[in-house]
Amino acid sequence: MTLLDEAFNLAMPGQCLVCGSPALTFRWRVLCRPCVAALPDTVIRVPGPASIIETFALGPHDGNLGVLVRAAKYGRNIALIDRLGAHLGAALLGRVDVDAIVPVPIPRRRRWKRGFDQGERLARGVAASTGVEVMCLMRRRGGQTQVGKTSAERRKLPVCALSVRPGQLPNRVLLVDDVCTTGSTLHAAARALHRRGVAHIWALTVSHQES
Ligand SMILES: [Zn+2]
Repeated sequence: MTLLDEAFNLAMPGQCLVCGSPALTFRWRVLCRPCVAALPDTVIRVPGPASIIETFALGPHDGNLGVLVRAAKYGRNIALIDRLGAHLGAALLGRVDVDAIVPVPIPRRRRWKRGFDQGERLARGVAASTGVEVMCLMRRRGGQTQVGKTSAERRKLPVCALSVRPGQLPNRVLLVDDVCTTGSTLHAAARALHRRGVAHIWALTVSHQES
């Protein structure tokens, strides 16, 4: 443990979200050092919709990454989502060459209830690590939550309505979202961007769920 970690543990005692150890790190605040070391430090290519050139994620949702994503979203832990975003950006370095990072938004009502949009926070973290600008180009209406649904049920959910704001668009875009489940949301976002003339689209999520 570093001095900073020790000082943090004295000031803010708690337990590692993943293993329950009481020795938290200053940098992550909710993880111990071995659990930080166990986080993947490069992204992997995962199955994604055909409308997207390559879809990347840090790893599977069933495990540490799922624990972190859920804790950030439902525990409204903005510092954790920002940390995840920065980690995700560092893990992506050198894999894609894009003009802009575009978050997949959550519906406005859900954003209002949660107080933040995790996709946008993640995108800003990725931007800070990669130096590529964030453009919040998309709007989203409706769409039911996928929480607690099986993958078969998720496939039957109506696809949320994603649209692109008016204005000049970049040519090569990296879509950012928290989790890739069926890929239907990423596909809807990519289709809306393609329709507006965006030629090349990649996608990046923290975790992916195998169906
Ligand atoms: Zn731990």
